[in-house]
Amino acid sequence: MTRHNKYDLLDQIVKAITDSGWNVSYIGNTDEHPFRIQIYRENESQRVCIYIWHITHGGGKARPQNEYRIQITGADHFEINKDEKTLVLGWWQEAEVFAGFDVRKHLGKLGFSPSFQIREDALRQAYINGFCPSDKGNNEIAIAFRPDFFVEYVQNLEALHNFGQSTEDLAVLNEIAQNPEINNENIHIQDMERKITVVSVSKKLRDTNFRKRVLTAYTYRCAACGIQLKLVEAAHIIPVNHENSTDETRNGLALCALHHKAYDQALIAINDDYSVKLNQIQVNTLKAEKLDAGFVGFTQNLRSLILLPPAISDRPHVEYIKIANRIRGWK
Ligand SMILES: [Zn+2]
Repeated sequence: MTRHNKYDLLDQIVKAITDSGWNVSYIGNTDEHPFRIQIYRENESQRVCIYIWHITHGGGKARPQNEYRIQITGADHFEINKDEKTLVLGWWQEAEVFAGFDVRKHLGKLGFSPSFQIREDALRQAYINGFCPSDKGNNEIAIAFRPDFFVEYVQNLEALHNFGQSTEDLAVLNEIAQNPEINNENIHIQDMERKITVVSVSKKLRDTNFRKRVLTAYTYRCAACGIQLKLVEAAHIIPVNHENSTDETRNGLALCALHHKAYDQALIAINDDYSVKLNQIQVNTLKAEKLDAGFVGFTQNLRSLILLPPAISDRPHVEYIKIANRIRGWK
């Protein structure tokens, strides 16, 4: 495999991590495989060692139609270090999904021409749902996942692969992948670690779905200023922790980091006619405290009406706007 080829794979990894709002710093050389990186965000951080190969069908009539694989080249064993997580990954370019294999099942010297398999339908399901476990037998499961699930996969690495130990729990994990809206009380798993993992996974899937729907509806533009950089986030109109909050697209707004903060802190609000309003009381306080530098620019960048998604059903629900404004202290 050429260096160029591997470098593309590192690009996919870094993009997956940074798109999820995490940062990457390189520990090892970027042209040395396995890749060694540190992923971090605020006060969380994790060192990761990543082995990765392209996923192919490999052809040949002898092989099952449904079976895809990575061919392990350039390594006769996997290195395991105490303070870092070791990932063994495949990348399926066609659908842009990863496959994760359980390194603990492949310790020691690898056999001749080693390859790891994953079912094609698991890869396809992951493209649709975000993530899909694939039973390999012998208590081993592979996990197919979309790039927006990458960090979640790293965080729950061992716990996710441990689902290979229980057919019943694996069935629940599978169900969650297909329907993450399921209520936590309806998740029937005895094992505490696996239960926590399922709850975390379902929340992550709901969050990524919401984010994707909202950002797509607003074509990745801030509804308040129209900016279209990677800094655009999916904000909830009725805040997440409120009992009436929902993950419907119409309870979402795409906002840049600045306007997201301004919205959550009630410096700006949206009226039920979709106009943008400024909180004059807060503005006066800021002026009195001489904390209003750049204020003119701030207001000039604000649109008078927010950007609206083309589909009416995606637009902010007027009732949600009213509730949200009450919650944030607007009269
Ligand atoms: Zn903005």
